[in-house]
Amino acid sequence: MTKYFRSNVDAMASYIPGEQPGRGTQIIKLNSNENPYPPSPAALAVLRNIDGEWLRRYPEPFAEEFRQAASKVLGIPSDWIIVGNGSDELLSVVIRACVAPGRKVVYPMPTYVLYETLSKMQAAEIIEIAYSEDYSLPLEELAAANGCVTFIASPNSPSGHLVSTDDLRKLASQLSGVLVIDEAYIDFTQENALTLVKEYENVIVIRTLSKGYSLAGLRLGFGVANPKLLQGLFKVKDSYNIDAIACAVGTAAINDQAYKNACVTKIKASRTKLATDLKQLGFHIWDSQTNFLLTQPREGNAEYLYQKLKERGILIRYFKQPGLDDKLRITVGTDEQNQALVEALIYLLGSGDKRIRDS
Ligand code: PMP
Repeated sequence: MTKYFRSNVDAMASYIPGEQPGRGTQIIKLNSNENPYPPSPAALAVLRNIDGEWLRRYPEPFAEEFRQAASKVLGIPSDWIIVGNGSDELLSVVIRACVAPGRKVVYPMPTYVLYETLSKMQAAEIIEIAYSEDYSLPLEELAAANGCVTFIASPNSPSGHLVSTDDLRKLASQLSGVLVIDEAYIDFTQENALTLVKEYENVIVIRTLSKGYSLAGLRLGFGVANPKLLQGLFKVKDSYNIDAIACAVGTAAINDQAYKNACVTKIKASRTKLATDLKQLGFHIWDSQTNFLLTQPREGNAEYLYQKLKERGILIRYFKQPGLDDKLRITVGTDEQNQALVEALIYLLGSGDKRIRDS
């Protein structure tokens, strides 16, 4: 098929999302950082009452109802908000709008793998700058690289660490291109960088309803930026990128802050407990401001452990890439799910299976 594709598309590897087992599969799914609790009852009630007329007609092109709701929740005017088909769509829109082929996209590593995939699709020059062991932001190198677009996930995946707003401010002030602050996991933190969009017109903060709001299957995210930046992005997005169902259900979900906050509180408590339990099993655990933990089995073969857990019906995330191939990323589930994981690990680590210890 080679002759049909652009050479950069031919050369690139596909993005590999976390495994999504078929509906009804009996599995404990701790691999895609989904929320273990159901979406807001108010959102589900809207879903049950979808009017066929909403589907007969095209949806409102800018998801205006959702923008208005998000505007009230965030205290930001609605014309500072762009809504996307998941935050992934917005990451793609930014690259397509701002990066000509051959121009630079910059991000620290390790981070969300999709930044690389999208950059390759656009035939961008990719500059990856390594995080140090303590995950402090390599500010000078990122600023010096001065990409057309710089991506910072904060909190970051798979490390789970939050980048300080001060560091992001320093970076924004030194870049002439766009700084994307990907706040997919922001519902699990105390601090956020939203204020920077008012200070710098080259900053866009991108969020999602996939994590805190339990709506990964709906595909709804949004970006907040100065309207001067958004006007270019609006030209690039699909005309009807948000379907009528996502707009209505997402509006009810974002309006139900109390429900989202209650889920987040439970997940944070479970995160603390899971981290303690895993430390007792000899795992190194990085501090996390998210709904997942980056972990390192003390003397274990991470990939083998991942495989053995999978055989036992527990899915976690293993990344076969330098710097991560001795680690495992584990989504925080319900206390019952986490307990099942811990019990499986106790069994595996104590089973006398030598390969578990062969790194
Ligand atoms: N950014 C980061 C850092 C993520 O981990 C994810 C989810 N995998 C996303 C963005 C995309 O989220 P969404 O479901 O909104 O497309």
